[in-house]
Amino acid sequence: MEKCYNLALAIFLWLVSFACFAQTDTAQQVIPNRLNGTDQLTKPYVILISVDGFRYDYMEKYEARHLQQLASKGVEADALLPSFPSVTFPNHYSIVTGMYPAHHGLIGNTIYDPAKKSRYNMSNAKAVKDPSWYGGIPIWTLAEQQHLLSASFYWPGSEAPIAGLLPSYYYPYNEKIPIAQRIHAVVEWLSLPEEKRPHIINFYFPEVDHAGHRYGPDAPETAQAVHFVDSAVYALSLAVQKTGLPVNFVFVSDHGMTTINQDEPINLSPLLDTTKVDVAFNGTIVDVHVRDKKEIKAIYNVLKAGEEHYRAYLKKKVPSKYHYGKKDDRFKRIGDIVLIANAPYYFSIKRPNPGAHGYYVYDTPDMKATFLAWGPGFKEGAHIPAFENIHIYPLLAKMLGLHYEHHAIDGKMKVLEGVLKN
Ligand code: AMP
Ligand code: ZN
Ligand code: ZN
Repeated sequence: MEKCYNLALAIFLWLVSFACFAQTDTAQQVIPNRLNGTDQLTKPYVILISVDGFRYDYMEKYEARHLQQLASKGVEADALLPSFPSVTFPNHYSIVTGMYPAHHGLIGNTIYDPAKKSRYNMSNAKAVKDPSWYGGIPIWTLAEQQHLLSASFYWPGSEAPIAGLLPSYYYPYNEKIPIAQRIHAVVEWLSLPEEKRPHIINFYFPEVDHAGHRYGPDAPETAQAVHFVDSAVYALSLAVQKTGLPVNFVFVSDHGMTTINQDEPINLSPLLDTTKVDVAFNGTIVDVHVRDKKEIKAIYNVLKAGEEHYRAYLKKKVPSKYHYGKKDDRFKRIGDIVLIANAPYYFSIKRPNPGAHGYYVYDTPDMKATFLAWGPGFKEGAHIPAFENIHIYPLLAKMLGLHYEHHAIDGKMKVLEGVLKN
């Protein structure tokens, strides 16, 4: 009888925990008791939109009419230059911290930290919520520190209490919530009483990156994903317009996309003795952490001798332009040996997808991303040259009237201040 009772209890608890999981998975998280400072109420509003993998030329190539029209009323850059490596987490986090990946610590979608002896992976829910992986002060944290509320409908880092603070309103990452519901949530945020209303809102789209990987940058499916985003951003801008608030839009992407050689993946298995190294793979870049430091040279020699379609560097010899060597390695997460693929080749043990990114933008121009901005704070019809994504942070801070330690970041205000109305 007791056994039966225990079993029933166990099933009940399992069902409750499942229901809680299902609930929290898509439910908005609200931090209680947050209010805008009274001196902050007149600040403008900024919606920071990221469309993952929206290459610099997609707007024209796929005739994204709404975006073209919105950009024509604001600012358009020739391109936004991603930081190296041009993958999602490092670049989203560079955009919101103004720092190169090796300076903010989120150096890959996958990271091995030898001091912690642990791994970060973007699909590991526990790791993404652990603030110890994230350096710098993201723009939403800076805002919250200065009593200006923030909200996030997804952004790498937004689920971790960085410097002890989460965004006032946020959703845990989940690709299932329909776009209409997501737009509605933004309108609801902007319809809150002014003391509770967020001034900086992040909004993220995964669809274009997904299609680019699966079908390649030139595929009709990628064109379709661009058109989906084009319509969704237009719908968002119309819905927001109805609130009558002075809302500015900053539209960015984290990197581009290139067609890769699927037939000849770079298979490192024969060259890497996994009993001697810990490895973090990011597709176009591999960090090799050698357990016994006395063996670095010997292992490097093997990888150097095997160089085909990639380059092998000792950490101290990685060219400084990558900002990915010993001098830049503030969190000691870069491998003792760094392997960098030459486009269109890709590190993989199986046949890779047709589209990929991660390469250095000056070597592979297909990595160039997009920057557009419009709204009451921006000049109209401004066309600006390509610039690095670390310079967006000072722009956002200036628009929101937030103070930050200028010397602590890599981005410079002078790069973008000309796009703002005086
Ligand atoms: P990448 O391979 O660098 O293109 O990574 C893109 C992937 O990152 C997308 O497929 C998304 O599903 C995933 N992603 C983006 N933002 C988040 C997030 N905030 N949390 C978890 N996964 C994310
Ligand atoms: Zn991405
Ligand atoms: Zn991607």
